[in-house]
Amino acid sequence: MNNDDFLSLEEHSEPAGQGADETILEETNPGSGQPRFSVFAGLQSVFIVAFLIASLFTLFTPNNLFSGETLERIFQAWQANPTTVAPLLVNNSTPETARIGIVAGHWQNDSGAVCDDGLTEEQVNLQIATLVQQKLIAEGYAVDLLSEFDERLSQYKAMVLISIHADTCEYISNEATGFKVSAAIHSFYPEKANRLVVCMADRYQAITGLKYRPNSTTPDMTSYHAFDEIHTETTAAIIETGFLNLDRQILTENPDLIAQGIVNGLICYIRNENVTLPTPLP
Ligand SMILES: [Zn+2]
Repeated sequence: MNNDDFLSLEEHSEPAGQGADETILEETNPGSGQPRFSVFAGLQSVFIVAFLIASLFTLFTPNNLFSGETLERIFQAWQANPTTVAPLLVNNSTPETARIGIVAGHWQNDSGAVCDDGLTEEQVNLQIATLVQQKLIAEGYAVDLLSEFDERLSQYKAMVLISIHADTCEYISNEATGFKVSAAIHSFYPEKANRLVVCMADRYQAITGLKYRPNSTTPDMTSYHAFDEIHTETTAAIIETGFLNLDRQILTENPDLIAQGIVNGLICYIRNENVTLPTPLP
């Protein structure tokens, strides 16, 4: 470009900067106003970023990283420009807070009680435990189906753990019917363990109609091996769902009802529902 061209260009463009022509130019080219805004916004962003970087260098010294003043200043920065500062609060929920453990009694270890026709307690327990797991997953919980001596039981952490068993298949008497629930004899939090037992007994009886037999819990139940293996924060109980002899029909032909009784008991405990201990057998 030579000087003549430059001059002629200047002369030529002059009228456009004055009078009516300017208005026409801007109307026919609506985008002409945008570059100035973009430049301004860009500069603003640069200043905000520069301010934040400077602030972060100032804030994040080892001594004041977690001080109240730091949090206060970050909060003020967030108030000034909520979209620029990333959310500080993250969801800290650990898996244990929504986790439930279900032990299928005797599973992968031994048969447990055995009936004359070959039906085993292990089979009955596993069917019920599997249904309990499915129902609780449908309720939104993370559920571990555990075998009798599952290696995960060591220091197992969960909101609650229930071990599912059934009583003998031998005929004892016409009184040998109904269910039992027990917590560990030495629970770390006895009031929580007691509440779990009450919830299980009440809800299980209401759904299944089986008789509650609180006075016939055995040392096998109160000193159940898993109680000593799991983490002390995990509330745990063991349920004998019924007798394989006199309660066989409901246990094997209506396992869904049995499972629902257990699920309702667990949810009663987890959700802190109102509950009163059902009247025990005389
Ligand atoms: Zn058993």
